[in-house]
Amino acid sequence: MANDTMKKCLFCGKPENKVRNMFSAGNNHICDECVLFCYDILEEQGGVAPRAKVTEKKKKAADNGGITLKKPAEIKAVLDEYVIGQDDAKIALSVAVYNHYKRILTLEDDTDDVEIQKSNVLLLGPTGTGKTLLAQTLARLLNVPFAIADATTLTEAGYVGDDVENVLTRLIQAANYNVEEASHGIIYIDEIDKIARKSENTSITRDVSGEGVQQALLKIVEGTVSNVPPQGGRKHPHQEFIQIDTKNILFICGGAFDGLEAVIKKRTDSSSMGFGGKVKDKSSDYNILKKVVPHDLVKFGIVPELVGRLPVITVLDELDEPALCRILTEPKNSLIKQYTKLFEFDNIDFEVTPEALTEIAKVTIEQKTGARGLRAVVESILTKLMFDAPSDSSITGIKITAECVRGEAEPEITRGQEKDVV
Ligand code: ADP
Repeated sequence: MANDTMKKCLFCGKPENKVRNMFSAGNNHICDECVLFCYDILEEQGGVAPRAKVTEKKKKAADNGGITLKKPAEIKAVLDEYVIGQDDAKIALSVAVYNHYKRILTLEDDTDDVEIQKSNVLLLGPTGTGKTLLAQTLARLLNVPFAIADATTLTEAGYVGDDVENVLTRLIQAANYNVEEASHGIIYIDEIDKIARKSENTSITRDVSGEGVQQALLKIVEGTVSNVPPQGGRKHPHQEFIQIDTKNILFICGGAFDGLEAVIKKRTDSSSMGFGGKVKDKSSDYNILKKVVPHDLVKFGIVPELVGRLPVITVLDELDEPALCRILTEPKNSLIKQYTKLFEFDNIDFEVTPEALTEIAKVTIEQKTGARGLRAVVESILTKLMFDAPSDSSITGIKITAECVRGEAEPEITRGQEKDVV
């Protein structure tokens, strides 16, 4: 409340308790806002040097507490360096992450009354298609703490298994116990499909690893102040807890959702039955997965509240032969680049023919382990050589051919003059 003894700005009439500064000359006063307003007019006329139009809050936003705020296209460009294909997922993630950090910045600006909702992401796709890799690469490029949790190890508090809060402990540990940093980190929860409700009927026995975990997760995903045991493990009465607010933590959940195709098929088939109904969709299971709607996830056994908290749903592509070949050679830390480097230590040139790459991809596809299986296939070809080559200093080159991958031939070895072993 202004009273009569208070100084008032001669220009806008605001009393001194409503402004930051009041400048006085005798009985005439002007407030800081009017001074800046006048300065802006002078600036427009080009009479004075421009003043930086950043308020304290926006300045803080520009620093972002160490967060590197990148535009969606810039985020995708970095993801492209490490992850092959998966364009839909990359675009969805880039936008979600960009909006998430914009959201944090607008939350800091309390003059803004439009509150942007959290954009947690659900990645659907077969195993080994890059879900974890995408989340990991994101965290690295944004320079924020990142933790991975496996939903299958989680149980409702008080039961054998990990409490859901331990996921937060891991994030705090990843941030070196800097709770402020951890509170805008990223958590990737893998195998979220494995905590689906066991059946649609409520049973008498408690579903402590399924719906119980979903309910516990729901709280931290939507944002709560959680008491976290600093060393993980069970909450224990004599332990000091760390308090962390989860409202600005971005959650990315991933899962293969085996069986979801059937749920989607049932829904899409029943909507195309009868006269005039569409001819049955013959597209592969994968294309069917692309038609997922939130309700399908509820049918699958994820509680509607949790589905609602994961507004961005994106489906990853199954990796085909060309994609696997690219994964072998193109990413910054691709397998072939890694092995080339390893052999380089022993002065050995390492080569894999394009036909061999295709063959490795074929074998991996048969194993149905996605790109994760590539390493095992390559290891099985190279283990013996990696054992022998360092002790045989006459070897100067190793070439892997398609026959060699099929087990029909040995790797081609070139020998030169005796070299020094490094
Ligand atoms: P998941 O989808 O099961 O989480 P991951 O992301 O853990 O699969 O993938 C396992 C490994 O396979 C990764 O560490 C990476 O080396 C490789 N990989 C999988 N998908 C891709 C991809 N799209 N591009 C490049 N590498 C990939």
